[in-house]
Amino acid sequence: MTLAELLQQAQAQGLTRLDAQRLLLHSLGRDSGERAWLLSHDSDAAAADTQTRFTSLCARALAHEPMGYLLGQQAFFGLDLAVDARVLVPRPDTETLVEWALAVWPECEAPKVLDLGTGSGAIALALAQQHPEAEVHASDQSKDALAVAQANGLRLGLGVHWHQGFWWRAVRGLRFDLVLSNPPYIAEGDVHLPRLRHEPKSALTAGPDGLDDIRHIIASAPAHLNAGAHLLFEHGFDQAGAVAELLAVAGFSAIAHRQDLAGHVRCTGGLWPGDTKRG
Ligand code: GLN
Repeated sequence: MTLAELLQQAQAQGLTRLDAQRLLLHSLGRDSGERAWLLSHDSDAAAADTQTRFTSLCARALAHEPMGYLLGQQAFFGLDLAVDARVLVPRPDTETLVEWALAVWPECEAPKVLDLGTGSGAIALALAQQHPEAEVHASDQSKDALAVAQANGLRLGLGVHWHQGFWWRAVRGLRFDLVLSNPPYIAEGDVHLPRLRHEPKSALTAGPDGLDDIRHIIASAPAHLNAGAHLLFEHGFDQAGAVAELLAVAGFSAIAHRQDLAGHVRCTGGLWPGDTKRG
């Protein structure tokens, strides 16, 4: 079969043209971004082993295994991150959270910034790249995830302080000028979970309403925030009101939201006014 015929076959099975092209390039041992090469070689005959590799990758994609796992990498905020089943695949929507952080970036000279629940390291590494002067920290409870994040940092030459532990326990005694988190926020029993079955459950679900981790993070945040620090979350499409309420009750001010690429209110955050201002 020619490369063009293999692509046609994959599309007939339900893959998008783009995904089929990227998987075919990967099966050929080429970079998945080399689509121009593919266009100029589409009448080449595919070797038997290429065909076998491609057919198997297509089957996995059709079973909803994320493209990031199949290709072994995922682009995030201009960085190529290595990803595998130890971490949640970074979503383009999470770039919204990074953009928000850059817009409210602390004014101090070398701000201490934290990515709570870093997974592949996506948020922390994006921030470290944008602000080399910052002291970027990142935590995860999963040692496996941290190994992925750490390797990404090394490969990209970006310095981040990695901490292992449950939320704030990972950074005991430290205070920050900006904290971001894309924690698990899907309700246990949510209808979308079967589609996400290839990714770590611990990175996805958080109790019956999906808010267990966000509640915990907000409740223990004040001891780890300097006055004027922002705490910004990504959350579920229908959780903005609940997260705003949790922040307000905990004493945060300037509570605001950001929309994701699909127009859902996907991020909510607030500013910590400092311990002294609380009555
Ligand atoms: N946004 C992801 C999804 O719904 C979930 C990420 C998360 O739980 N933090 O696919």
